[in-house]
Amino acid sequence: MRIQDEALVLRRTPFRETSLVIHFLTRNHGLVSTVAKGIRRSGRRGRSDRGALSGFHTVSLACRSRSFTAMGTLTRAEILTARQTIPASATALAAAQVILEVAYRFSVAGDARPEVMMLIESSLDLLDKGAPPLEVVSSVLSVLVHAVGYGWRTDVCAGCQGEDLLLFFSLRRGQVVCQPCGQPYTSRLVPLSKNMFNCMRKLAWPPDFGLLSTAEQALVYRVAIASLIRAGGKALMTDPPFRNLVGHGLFSQTGYTPTDIRFSQ
Ligand SMILES: [Zn+2]
Repeated sequence: MRIQDEALVLRRTPFRETSLVIHFLTRNHGLVSTVAKGIRRSGRRGRSDRGALSGFHTVSLACRSRSFTAMGTLTRAEILTARQTIPASATALAAAQVILEVAYRFSVAGDARPEVMMLIESSLDLLDKGAPPLEVVSSVLSVLVHAVGYGWRTDVCAGCQGEDLLLFFSLRRGQVVCQPCGQPYTSRLVPLSKNMFNCMRKLAWPPDFGLLSTAEQALVYRVAIASLIRAGGKALMTDPPFRNLVGHGLFSQTGYTPTDIRFSQ
C-alpha cells in the first residue's frame, strides 16, 4: 500500500551503510516508520529529499508499506513548511529535540492525533521565530502531558483534599499540596507562585509570554518532565543537554534532581 501524509521527522537512526530508519509523526496515520535508502550518500548520487529530512520542517511524505504499522520504504519527501532557523540557536535546537523526543515517546503507529501534531508544529514555529526556548518548551510539554492523559491535578490538595492555600506541588504525586500539609516537607516540594499555579491550571497555548519569571518557567518545565517520567518510566535523553544550555543553577534551586521524585513525602 501507499501512504501519503504530512509529517515531522521525530527520529533518525543509521541503517546499513548509506540508509536511515526515519520515524515520522504524521497527521493522519500516527507514527510511521520508514527506511530512507541511500539517504547518507552525498553528492550527485545522493537523494534530492535529503534536506527535507534533516531538520524540523513539516514535509509531505510518500512511502510504500505492507500496512500502517509495518516498516515502510520512503519514496519521496518535500518541504511544506520550512523551519530553517531553529538550528542556528543551540538552545532552540535543544528545546526542539526535547519536544520531538516527547512526541516520539507518545506516538503510536496507526493512531492519528492531529491535535498533538498541530501543537508540536506550533511550538516548532515559535522556536523558529526566536521565541524564548524555555518558555515554549515548558508550556508545550504542560499541554502535551495533559493531552496524552498524564496531566497533573491542581484542583485539591494531595494530602487533605482541601481547596485552600494550594501553595506547593508534589512532583512525586503530580498534584498540588496545601500550605498546612506541605509545611513540614517544604524541601521536597515545589513552591507555587500565584502565576505558576494559574498557568499550571489554565494550560494556555500559545503561552502568555513574559507572565512567568525564568525561574518559574524552569519549575514548570521540571513539573512537566517529572509527569512524563512518572508516566513513561525512563528519563529523557534530550533533557540534560537542554538543562545545561539553559543553565543548571536554574533547575536546582529547591535542591531537586530528577531522581528526587522517588522520595516519599
Ligand atoms: Zn492539605
